[in-house]
Amino acid sequence: MNEGVPQSVLVVDDSADIHQLVSARLRSEGVRLLHAHNAEEGLGLALQHRPDLILLDLEMPGVDGMTLCRQLLEDPMLSDLPVIFLTGTIDVETKVQAFELGAVDYVTKPFDAIELKARVRSALRTKRYQDLLTTKAQIDVLTGLWNRGYLDNRLAAELSHMARQGSPVSLIMLDIDHFKSINDRHGHPFGDLVIQRIAEILGRLSRDSDIVCRYGGEEFAIILRNTPANGALAIAERLREAIAATPLSQGRSRVRATASFGIAGSDQFDDPSQLSPETLLKAADEALYGAKADGRNRVGLGHTQG
Ligand code: GH3
Ligand code: MG
Ligand code: MG
Ligand code: MG
Repeated sequence: MNEGVPQSVLVVDDSADIHQLVSARLRSEGVRLLHAHNAEEGLGLALQHRPDLILLDLEMPGVDGMTLCRQLLEDPMLSDLPVIFLTGTIDVETKVQAFELGAVDYVTKPFDAIELKARVRSALRTKRYQDLLTTKAQIDVLTGLWNRGYLDNRLAAELSHMARQGSPVSLIMLDIDHFKSINDRHGHPFGDLVIQRIAEILGRLSRDSDIVCRYGGEEFAIILRNTPANGALAIAERLREAIAATPLSQGRSRVRATASFGIAGSDQFDDPSQLSPETLLKAADEALYGAKADGRNRVGLGHTQG
């Protein structure tokens, strides 16, 4: 999380006046405003920008605010976005329902400038702390890579994104070869160093859009967005060569570690839109197992399956 990056607020309201009013009232807050005039546009902008806060009108023609709230909650990529709802009515039932759908606060129209600012400020402050805690909880301490928890969430989010956009997602799993004997011969701290060096190689050689994670122990996983299986295969081959070619040393310990790789791509499945994270992980893991069985220091590609 970066304190210097302005937070963004998405305003979803069918009334042009409200957009103007909110813009005027929040001008001094240093937030970036995004504007949607109906629920569909709101959902699109939320997916595209993942704003830090949504100001959502409950009363809109067509798809109403409550329905959009529910859609946000059901989308793994959007379910944690805080929503402040804007409403003309103040009936308790409506409020309760909105809170049940994950809203964090509400403002009654016509709203007071100071009140709106105060509520937005408070919601954004909470969001900053949450982001910080979330990020900390998702980083692997030894390597600084994303951890397994993050991988699981992110893979689910990327697959649901893929189902909508139709662009392929691939997964690379890799496991350091004979790592137990590196530990046994050179000690556990040197084993840790090997894990760190390999993490660095993966981080350095992967693309900005690739999501590199430590899956556990001496295993790593990389989510490749917009990448079919054969693209992932080429990348894995490059990573494999780089690891095998890099001598790792500290003091008198010096090893050339290798790793085995397994690839699975959404494009290998008959119906990628139905693909679950578990299925893709399992396919990559089986491909990795095949690479181990075939002699290690190689890349295995999962079989095309339904
Ligand atoms: P293979 O080629 O079949 O993968 O053999 P391997 O020896 O790498 O696999 P195995 O699963 O038998 O051993 C993995 C070892 O990794 C066992 C475990 O003690 C060690 N290990 C797991 N996490 C860490 C860690 O954080 N640091 C260190 N130094 N070792 C770890
Ligand atoms: Mg309205
Ligand atoms: Mg292992
Ligand atoms: Mg291993």
